[in-house]
Amino acid sequence: MFNCPACGAQTPDNLDFTKLMVCEHCSNILFIEDEAVKNAGLRSAQVDAPSIFTLGRHYRYRNMNFETIGRLQFDYGDGLWEEWWVMTDAGDGKWISVDEGDIAIESALENIKDLPGCKYLKPGEKINLLKQNLLVTEVDSAECIAVSGQLPERIMPGEKHDYVHLSGKHNILYTLECFEGQKKLYKGVWIDAFDIEPL
Ligand SMILES: [Zn+2]
Repeated sequence: MFNCPACGAQTPDNLDFTKLMVCEHCSNILFIEDEAVKNAGLRSAQVDAPSIFTLGRHYRYRNMNFETIGRLQFDYGDGLWEEWWVMTDAGDGKWISVDEGDIAIESALENIKDLPGCKYLKPGEKINLLKQNLLVTEVDSAECIAVSGQLPERIMPGEKHDYVHLSGKHNILYTLECFEGQKKLYKGVWIDAFDIEPL
């Protein structure tokens, strides 16, 4: 448990996965590092947009129960999309990306070497990644416009991330994210909004 360095409010207890959180009382963005909390010096804007999820609630997708822990909102020029950081009852953190009706559950893949750079890929191109043939379906960049709750990485409003969507067999989706020379790969699956129920 910490106190917000800006307003003194107590933070929630369980911050194991948390690297960034937004103070519920003063909206200041806080970084959690080495069991210390530091004010990032920026308040997150609140962007009101309808969503299928509410922060801090429990949901079920098939046999997986999860709680919504944090939210990122991105603007990609033609609209907004959200990334929800959720924690399953089994203790796994996952991302749920919501772009209007398109919903995907993704997990970060660690230590993948030799990833291509986002800007070298083109929509319609086929590439071989992790021994699979994947189709590049989207190459774009998006600006983070708001953060809320708790997140497992530091992403600040105003940051622009390049991303690439790749699709494989059986509804499998990969997302490659490129930011400041770092590349991250996420693997997931498209799901049906009707399969998500609030608990
Ligand atoms: Zn505060």
